[in-house]
Amino acid sequence: MNTKRSEELFKKSLEKIPGGVNSPVRAFRAVGRNPLFIDHAAGDRITDVDGNEFIDYVCSWGPGILGHAHPQVIRGVKAACDKGLTYGAPTENELILADMICEAMPSVEKVRLVSSGTEAVMSAIRVARGYTGRDYILKFKGNYHGHSDGLLVKAGSAALTTAVPDSSGVPASYTQNTLVALYNDKESVRELMEKYGEQVAAIIVEPVAANMGVVLPEDGFLEYLRKITEEYGALLIFDEVITGFRLGYGGAQEYFGIRPDMTTMGKIVGGGMPMAAYGGRRDIMDMVSPVGPVYQAGTLSGNPIATTAGIETLKILKAHPEYYSQIEEKAEKIAAALKERGRRTGIPVSVNQIGSLLCAFFTDRHVGDYDSATSSDLKAYAEYFGHMLENGVYVAPSQYEAMFVSAAHSDEDIERTCQVILEA
Ligand SMILES: *Cc1c(COP(=O)(O)O)cnc(C)c1O
Repeated sequence: MNTKRSEELFKKSLEKIPGGVNSPVRAFRAVGRNPLFIDHAAGDRITDVDGNEFIDYVCSWGPGILGHAHPQVIRGVKAACDKGLTYGAPTENELILADMICEAMPSVEKVRLVSSGTEAVMSAIRVARGYTGRDYILKFKGNYHGHSDGLLVKAGSAALTTAVPDSSGVPASYTQNTLVALYNDKESVRELMEKYGEQVAAIIVEPVAANMGVVLPEDGFLEYLRKITEEYGALLIFDEVITGFRLGYGGAQEYFGIRPDMTTMGKIVGGGMPMAAYGGRRDIMDMVSPVGPVYQAGTLSGNPIATTAGIETLKILKAHPEYYSQIEEKAEKIAAALKERGRRTGIPVSVNQIGSLLCAFFTDRHVGDYDSATSSDLKAYAEYFGHMLENGVYVAPSQYEAMFVSAAHSDEDIERTCQVILEA
């Protein structure tokens, strides 16, 4: 594979951009390679600056559920551009998208548009704290909620301690109100709630954890979170930045039949543009300025181009409910190939898959939490990644990211992907 131009661009980028990238995982460090610079993408294919073409399963880390450059989305965006890029005043688009979100997720009665998933989560937590008058939040080890200070935490040595920062530059005082429990471990939640429950504003969870690879919630886990938050008067926040409009049009809350108090969305809702949203019960959302005392604002929030991309994407998904079962079937085929590869090679592999999200862990353990996820052999993953890439399949350059299947993945390309997996 010729990567001359990518190498040149990366070398120059290293001089002007930290690590040469604008988001760390793009740097390919976890797989010991240099990143490919992308020139263009369409459907399920992505092409780098040296002309190498790949079947893409990163899909921009989640937004690309329709694949790249869907003609209807691109047409809408181009038309919207002709009307100006931003006004800083309300538009009908914002109302249309808000209506679509509330209809898709009935737990969301009012919604605010923001510009990134990080911003959506940060804002939702502020609102939860304002609404409950409490300071603590409880999150789960291995769940990712963006890079706001209070959420960049690692668990303390004992589960019953508050968190310590997981990044330089975050004062310890910013994370002292963050509690960390273990995913799929009700007992760890119960212990923390028994100790701090009356002071907990919200439990925030990725209903399907998709930032430590893909880890499914065990039966009863999400139900338990619903119950214990009600018991203690805390709010339940579903971070559906990945699962929203992906597990189904109504997200994980529809899939599992659980009604959270608040929801954060991103990725798909922006249709490939920088947009995200948070919303929830009317009485909670009415805490937000200018109605209520919780301040939250954004110069480019609800941007007309971004809302257009979001609206067109959701329109297509809504008109094609069959896409969800189709992409699930495609993901199942890939999962089956990954398992078959394990059988043939004797290299242990544990495959988690739900809907169009999947992940192969190179471990003989069932992966149901952070500790089992991190038992994966990262060297084996790096080798798998290299084999896939050299054979025209672009998967996440990190063990701890999901493989995203889109409606644009053709049957032939799924076949081809399975073949490459089996050759590995
Ligand atoms: C990607 C992601 C975020 C952060 O979104 P950004 O747009 O990258 O800031 C938050 N929560 C979850 C679950 C995510 O996957």
